[in-house]
Amino acid sequence: MTAQLIDGNALSKQLRAQVATDTAQLKAQGLTPGLAVVLVGDNQASQVYVRNKVKACEDAGLHSVLEKYDATMTEAQLLARVAALNNDDSIHGILVQLPLPAHIDAHKVIEAISPAKDVDGFHIASAGALMTGMPGFWPCTPYGCMKMLESIGYNLKGKHAVVIGRSNIVGKPMALMLLQQNATVTICHSATPDLKAMTLQADVIVAAVGKRNVLTADMVKPGAVVLDVGMNRNDEGKLCGDVDFEGVKEVAGHITPVPGGVGPMTITMLLVNTLESAQRALSESQRA
Ligand code: NAP
Repeated sequence: MTAQLIDGNALSKQLRAQVATDTAQLKAQGLTPGLAVVLVGDNQASQVYVRNKVKACEDAGLHSVLEKYDATMTEAQLLARVAALNNDDSIHGILVQLPLPAHIDAHKVIEAISPAKDVDGFHIASAGALMTGMPGFWPCTPYGCMKMLESIGYNLKGKHAVVIGRSNIVGKPMALMLLQQNATVTICHSATPDLKAMTLQADVIVAAVGKRNVLTADMVKPGAVVLDVGMNRNDEGKLCGDVDFEGVKEVAGHITPVPGGVGPMTITMLLVNTLESAQRALSESQRA
């Protein structure tokens, strides 16, 4: 069996075109959705990520501001910038790129972002909203995974989903989103004694670990949907996921590649969240 690919680039293109259309409509009503991206320090990977985010905004017609600061910026200075952006009506989404330099408490900074502008979905209020099924912003990576399942018309009701990884930004919110769609969810982590016994029961597997070959063909039920969130480097230095793609694609029903799978969806969902934030701001101003 050869799995069908879930193409994150193609789906992103489609969703970003819709964001561009909706953005043009908002602009016609006098509101341009705006995203502020704040980068502190000179982490090489972060520089690439923020550039890609800003470019994606520009391509879709959103207003974007990239604020770059030296690694010596103090926590108080960063908190002051976040406060200013909270009060800036041209900004609907605030993203502080992680990791931050060690002398800055990332948690404190994230909690300083207004939940109404928390388009990364990392604020405790956003996490609480997801947990209780209330409106709020969903973290972009697991949200992108949900869109990928939606794109293949997958009905999660009654299905068993296994999430490998329990981080606050991927694994846990992923599990909650799957649960909300009526899947039965198992969360696995580094202390799970027999990962294979769990994954073999799964109709859907989401691998979000950060280690190559965490999921191999012998661990997958024939026909299962496999979403690979991992971003690793192989021996040749090429980007690869957590899943042994060559082996698993012979067993799975659907599979996401790396690169070109979940990765592009993360930025796409950031645009979707920023647009939604702007739409909410417009509705509120029309009600006022
Ligand atoms: P993380 O915070 O390091 O979490 C990794 C999780 O994997 C932890 O819960 C850990 O368990 C679990 N784990 C480690 N070894 C394991 C094993 N052998 N078996 C089962 N579980 C194991 O990482 P993250 O931020 O969630 O990111 C995960 C991966 O996704 C990374 O490769 C990251 O680069 C990638 N990522 C990609 C995107 C994207 O846009 N494509 C976005 C975000 C992250 P414990 O909790 O017990 O330690």
